[in-house]
Amino acid sequence: MFDYDPSKCQDEFLKPAFKKLNLDSEVQEILQTPQREIKVEIPIRLHNGKIRRFEGFRVQHNDFCGPFKGGMRYHPSVDMKHCRALAFLMTWKTALFHLPFGGAKGGICCDLKHLNTYEKEILSKNFINKIFPLIGPDIDIPAPDVGTGETEMAWYFDAYAKHNGYMPSVVTGKPLNLGGVDGRTEATGRGVHFATLLAAKAHGFDINNLKITIQGFGNVGSHAALYLHQAGAQIIAVSDADGGIYNPEGLDIPTLFNEMQPNKDAKVNDSNIKHEYISHEEFFELKTDVLIPAALEAAIHSENVERLNVKMIVEAANIPVTNNADNYLKDKNIPVIPDIFANAGGVCASYLEWSGNHQRYSWPKDKVFNFIEDAFKDTWRKITEVSEAEQISYRDASYLVAIERVAKALYQRGFY
Ligand code: GLU
Repeated sequence: MFDYDPSKCQDEFLKPAFKKLNLDSEVQEILQTPQREIKVEIPIRLHNGKIRRFEGFRVQHNDFCGPFKGGMRYHPSVDMKHCRALAFLMTWKTALFHLPFGGAKGGICCDLKHLNTYEKEILSKNFINKIFPLIGPDIDIPAPDVGTGETEMAWYFDAYAKHNGYMPSVVTGKPLNLGGVDGRTEATGRGVHFATLLAAKAHGFDINNLKITIQGFGNVGSHAALYLHQAGAQIIAVSDADGGIYNPEGLDIPTLFNEMQPNKDAKVNDSNIKHEYISHEEFFELKTDVLIPAALEAAIHSENVERLNVKMIVEAANIPVTNNADNYLKDKNIPVIPDIFANAGGVCASYLEWSGNHQRYSWPKDKVFNFIEDAFKDTWRKITEVSEAEQISYRDASYLVAIERVAKALYQRGFY
């Protein structure tokens, strides 16, 4: 993957904050190192009778501020290295938003195209059967991520309940019927839309003249597109694994959204809305105000960053910009709204689901969305204050706020 090395990205992102905070080198190591890394073998019998083994991972990066928290990813790229980088990001994301959580990430290395529902259920439940002693409502709380959603979370909840009894707060992103919170599916996209509006306003853009391109039209990208369209912006291009679709006048996002919803495998280019097909290369070269990478890691790297024609980037995915590309954008004064801020809407809703489960209460959707909006406003205020005072990028400011909080918790809790 070009210049993308997950561990290098982590180290580079932390460096400026470590320097400013003047942290002891051992403390730096503690903050960089996962507290626990779990790898399990998950052999299952497929529908056709054949046996296949899968590898499951859970990296528990840090729990100084609360139980480990983060998604479970089902994708062929899942390995320890990637889970480590993504778990690390969760620690800073929850700390930045002052949520009572730490950070974790995990998943199963698999290609969902080759698994049916029956096999996915066995795989998911066997995964939890292997790791259940190491997760729990106040230990580690999984959630959806790429390739997983409320169906998988319901299976996790059930597998855990077989061992420990009814305990809905062990997992977030569950279906409403099983203690999920209304709005969790939309929450990450909703948050990306708030982040984009706040950043656009801070940089003097008029939302009604804002042109946006979105890479990835999955759960996060499609919801962000819908909300930004409703706010008045023009989404001029979106892409998926097969390429992009473009309309300089703005795509008909509500129709595209409705066409794509029933079928997760639908391609944007099969849509009936007015569009012109473009390749991935053409997509990244489009002139746009805001580019929102909403797919996987390292979408913007040293080989395509110079060809971008954008005024701002909002990171809806986790680590979509490599640290080399990030340095290039810094030099060009192109603001990057970092992942640990922009995509935190999901974990904000997860917090309401988890705390509501503890109280046997379910928050209504409008309250969930209001909570996310307030959390984004407060956090953005903090980031911009620090960024202005210290003359540093939004990413460096976000890390500074987050690391300071986690380091403080470490010292307060002590070393004995
Ligand atoms: N997977 C999501 C993320 O990367 C959500 C995590 C959660 O809700 O715990 O932020």
